[in-house]
Amino acid sequence: MIILILNSGSSSVKYQLWDTGGDGMLAKGLVSRIGIDNPLLTHTARGKKYEFSPGGIIDHNTAVKLALDALVHPEHGVIESVEQIEAVGHRVVHGGEEFSGSALITDEVIAAIERCIPLAPLHNPPNLMGIKACLKLMPGVPQVAVFDTAFHQTMEPHAYMYALPYELYEKYKIRRYGFHGTSHYYVAHQAAEMVGKPIEELRIITAHLGNGASMTAVKFGKSVDTSMGFTPLEGLVMGTRTGDMDPAIVMFVMKELGLSPDEANNYFNKKCGLLGLSGRSNDLRDVLEGAENGDPRCQLALDVYSYRIKKYIGAYAAAMGGVDVLVFTAGVGENSPYIRQRSTEGLGFLGIKIDPAKNEQAVGIKMDISAPDATVRTLVIPTNEELVIATETERLVKQ
Ligand code: ADP
Repeated sequence: MIILILNSGSSSVKYQLWDTGGDGMLAKGLVSRIGIDNPLLTHTARGKKYEFSPGGIIDHNTAVKLALDALVHPEHGVIESVEQIEAVGHRVVHGGEEFSGSALITDEVIAAIERCIPLAPLHNPPNLMGIKACLKLMPGVPQVAVFDTAFHQTMEPHAYMYALPYELYEKYKIRRYGFHGTSHYYVAHQAAEMVGKPIEELRIITAHLGNGASMTAVKFGKSVDTSMGFTPLEGLVMGTRTGDMDPAIVMFVMKELGLSPDEANNYFNKKCGLLGLSGRSNDLRDVLEGAENGDPRCQLALDVYSYRIKKYIGAYAAAMGGVDVLVFTAGVGENSPYIRQRSTEGLGFLGIKIDPAKNEQAVGIKMDISAPDATVRTLVIPTNEELVIATETERLVKQ
């Protein structure tokens, strides 16, 4: 099936075209600077890159149209006409408690995604704009929404409730939702395949360490706890986000720096994490380089980052009554032997022990990096959220 996958953000639309029956991904691209100026399309197909600047100021509708034009472009395209696209799969950030799985887009589904806007005011509106653009540009083509939160809907109240007055949950739906669900789902299933056991028999800890980062306890195939919470700010140290901290710091910093609620939200999401601690960069590669050159703040950032991951490994082993598999994925998880080593050192008591040579070798590839005497398998698995979206879209369309 030929499927268009869209990830629509506030100022950009990422797309991929997949042929699920044959070659997998056929083309991918990005339309950036939507609603700003100098919009730009970057399109890659058959290893060749093509760039196009339409000029002016464009909206999401035009951005999707540009992507479709590139896909049928006589020179850079991969299909002859838009009619060849049989379905569209959309990444949607927040499905709240409305969605515990993917959904075929209908008016009712759109209304439910709209009801989740208060939970993700920056993400769900552009996601909906992508859906509406496709409804307009490709009428009659089935569309599917795949939610970042859906995989975590199996968490039980003791894991998803905060110790706040219960009315806040009832009135505002304040609870842990978790994100990166498609990635945690994908790598957990891949891990079960790699160790050759049914996922229903495994206790898996998945660490998705990208610019945003989260960990999940996947017990017998179900998410039972995850480190991101009501928003993606909770949990691990991230590129620019604090992760866990004393909530009283928010009020203190707002008072001392004179920040409004919106400014504070921006501050804790954009100025903290690796960037705030190191004072240098949100990119782990820069922080690693700084530490190698003797910058103590970069070293401190790496120490805090790795220690937080280690604490979550311990917590999730406790939550599941043990752990059988630990998985590292996403930009940092797939590519940084240093972070994998630092965040697992001293965990021999849990059975987690990695082989230093294998760890060094595992850069951007699927690999078992466990030491021979480890009782827990530690795996590096490149994530593939688009594959999950393509598979889910095909499954729902064929139902
Ligand atoms: P996003 O959340 O934006 O999808 P990614 O999964 O691409 O992020 O991860 C981005 C992070 O991965 C950045 O912090 C980057 O420094 C890190 N990263 C990418 N390659 C490497 C590498 N070779 N070594 C260490 N970190 C890396």
